[in-house]
Amino acid sequence: MSSISQILVDEATLKARVKELGAAITKDYAGKSLLLVGVLKGAVIFLSELAQRIDLPATFDFMAVSSYGSATESSGVVRILKDLDESLEGRHVLVVEDIIDTGLTLDYLYRHLASRKPASLAICTLLDKPSRRQVEVPVKYVGFQIPDYFVVGYGLDFNEMYRNLPYIAVLEP
Ligand code: 5GP
Repeated sequence: MSSISQILVDEATLKARVKELGAAITKDYAGKSLLLVGVLKGAVIFLSELAQRIDLPATFDFMAVSSYGSATESSGVVRILKDLDESLEGRHVLVVEDIIDTGLTLDYLYRHLASRKPASLAICTLLDKPSRRQVEVPVKYVGFQIPDYFVVGYGLDFNEMYRNLPYIAVLEP
């Protein structure tokens, strides 16, 4: 049985940082409209709160991917379970992710989406575990860099549980 051992990022800190990210994105994309691409299911809560802090015309689209491997280890082999509904051609696309760990999932997704000829393509991740990186991914916006803990909450799960916690917590095995 796993349990929460520590709150890593509390609710107020999360909200303040999401607001800052939204303001930075609003400034950087001024005069443009954005297509926010969320990766299901982990990014859903972050995307929905971030989108409300972006003061630009914006639409959403979602992808579902599965990376083969165990619950806590990424294998780097990514399968697309649900593709985007919209064309990316000529659009300003911002991929919204929950966490970058090894970077293998986003490395695959970034190259895959880049091949669909967007006007621009950038990545915004809520959390980043730089010490675990195996491939470099061009990440433009990072909410928080965190140590190598397995975290849950604010969209992130363990066996589909804990996604609804309003904070980021460390899961004790
Ligand atoms: P990567 O391919 O960068 O190693 O892994 C990315 C995916 O692994 C994330 O989108 C997430 O689904 C999962 N992941 C990596 N680290 C964590 C973590 O600490 N907690 C949770 N819940 N998922 C994680």
